[in-house]
Amino acid sequence: MANTFKIGGVHPEPNKLSAGSRIVNAPLPKQAVFPLSQHIGAPAVPCVSKGDSVLVGTRIADAGGFMSAPIHSSVSGKVAKIDTVLDASGFRKPAIFIDVEGDSWEPGIDRTDTLSLLCSLTQQEVLDCIREAGIVGMGGACFPTHVKLSPPKDCRIDVLIVNAVECEPYLTADHRLMLEHPDEIIVGVRILLKVLGIDRAVIGIEENKPDAIQLLRSKTSMVSGIEIMPLRMKYPQGGEKQLIEAVTGRQVPPPPALPANVGCVVQNVGTVFAVYEAVQKRKPLIERIVTVTGKGVKNPCNLRVRLGTPVSQLIEMAGGMPEDTGKLISGGPMMGRPLLDDSVPVVKGTSGILMIPESEAARLEERNCIRCAKCVQACPMGLEPYLLATASAAQDWECAEENWIMSCIECGCCQSTCPSRRPLLDWVRLAKNRVGGIIRARNAKK
Ligand code: SF4
Ligand code: SF4
Repeated sequence: MANTFKIGGVHPEPNKLSAGSRIVNAPLPKQAVFPLSQHIGAPAVPCVSKGDSVLVGTRIADAGGFMSAPIHSSVSGKVAKIDTVLDASGFRKPAIFIDVEGDSWEPGIDRTDTLSLLCSLTQQEVLDCIREAGIVGMGGACFPTHVKLSPPKDCRIDVLIVNAVECEPYLTADHRLMLEHPDEIIVGVRILLKVLGIDRAVIGIEENKPDAIQLLRSKTSMVSGIEIMPLRMKYPQGGEKQLIEAVTGRQVPPPPALPANVGCVVQNVGTVFAVYEAVQKRKPLIERIVTVTGKGVKNPCNLRVRLGTPVSQLIEMAGGMPEDTGKLISGGPMMGRPLLDDSVPVVKGTSGILMIPESEAARLEERNCIRCAKCVQACPMGLEPYLLATASAAQDWECAEENWIMSCIECGCCQSTCPSRRPLLDWVRLAKNRVGGIIRARNAKK
């Protein structure tokens, strides 16, 4: 039987409505908007001003520190303003607005589809290239990739794990990428092995994507060091710690321990493709694949979207928003964020746009906890969600911290299993946010 992780997890309906839809290019927007915080870490710092002309691939913001990433324009045109924009967090954040004029690219970017197999760059040159291209984790975490590829010196890495699980219901962007760009992904894996100085990679794919498993297996049958590992379907297998356990049997200790402490580096398959494009094609991260879907959606699809494009434009491509839509989500139904507005721009971490019908979106009345412990059984991190939610409601941040709130991966398994319909994830997110702030303030004082 195929591997999976041991503790907790749930089996939501997959609803992969767009799995059979080939990737198509979304049209250019009239105006592209680039929030300066599209990654974990310090926001990027604008290096253009109002009125400046830019090309596709022009750097428009520098990294704000080591834990940060630069941003490049995905369009050609003129900088209209630097202002704030409503982003997926629901808050207004600083952003660069560019009015689109034509589609002219920076010279030096290879726009052909020709597969580029050989990489003659040194380890450091590849790492620099990845950092300069502004690549961040494209599974949604948005952790700067060059940081992940620079593990602490005392950690001996022996395996690269490629996260091609895509366990979130509805999302199919990674699945299509594997079917349509397998060769580029394999070159990307080889480049990452070179950077890490190791010779073993495992691409973990859930068993509901047999075509991708078969294709990548046939492509790697003559390549040494790359294994394709089918995994039993279980959410949240795409969580870093769950995937490491499923693939290697190793358990990452609680924070501040990292995957590197157990010899692993995990990269999303979309990130691997972006690495290929950056290193072999000199193309910075200016576009990504986005699934646009939902049960009432006319044309569930997978789109290649220039960053900065408004979500409303993608919804049009999918046939418009169904009348009975009750909730618009950026990402999947389990870990995604509800959007207040469809003008929000696509950013590096936008994996999907999901329209949920009113009948499924409406929250049913919450009832008292009946101590059934279903949330505890479902939690893949071994936490006690009912306790964390109670601590959060009572603003007892000390209790939340003592009970490992910072280990929560916000997967939503607890909430999805609660027979009393308690909004456990909301409470847990709130407490995690507050405790995270308290810990940061405490550390700053030291
Ligand atoms: S959201 Fe957090 S507390 Fe709830 S199941 Fe996931 S990891 Fe556990
Ligand atoms: S699943 Fe819901 S009802 Fe059951 S213990 Fe957890 S919070 Fe209480």
